[in-house]
Amino acid sequence: MFNSYGACGSLASFRKIDKGGFELIEYTGFIYCPKCGGKNIEIYEKNALCCKSCGYIYFHNTCAATAGIVEIEGGVLLTIRAHEPKAGMYDLPGGFMDYDESAEQALVREIREELDIDVKIKYYLTSFPNRYIYKNVTYFTADLFFVCVPADENVRITGNEEISTWKIFKPDALPWDKIGFESNVKALKLYCESLRTAKSEFEDI
Ligand SMILES: [Zn+2]
Repeated sequence: MFNSYGACGSLASFRKIDKGGFELIEYTGFIYCPKCGGKNIEIYEKNALCCKSCGYIYFHNTCAATAGIVEIEGGVLLTIRAHEPKAGMYDLPGGFMDYDESAEQALVREIREELDIDVKIKYYLTSFPNRYIYKNVTYFTADLFFVCVPADENVRITGNEEISTWKIFKPDALPWDKIGFESNVKALKLYCESLRTAKSEFEDI
């Protein structure tokens, strides 16, 4: 089946399917073509499904997402997720990028939506891959981490319905085993390491 030359096999050579292709069906659960509604879809490559009826190829591309390490009151702000995935776990504020939006714009918008505060971005820290399972579909994300501070230092945080609450942690007292996403753990560890390095460099002067 997977080495046949159907509507999507009009390419000179139909690419050989590796094990990752089969996993894509499991990750998405998709059974219909999103363009023609046909049920004649098959694996095209590791991250793509192809419709043999109309030739449409759906790429399950990695989504860009942003997260903010917000420095406030001598610590870092973590939210508690109100909804799945990872409901009840700690999280960094942020979210998916919209169309026609930069990562910086997305981060400022998401934090304003979640916490009702404006932040200033200090610097881009790092990125890590992540998996976000929502309604039984696995989305692969590239999480972009920025260090930021409230635009108004006297700000009061209220939050909204996306998060149940939030808490400020000193960098040496972060609740590592209660943070929902591994990408957040890795980014926060890198952040804490950079603080220690900066401190020791300061002490050396
Ligand atoms: Zn189709």
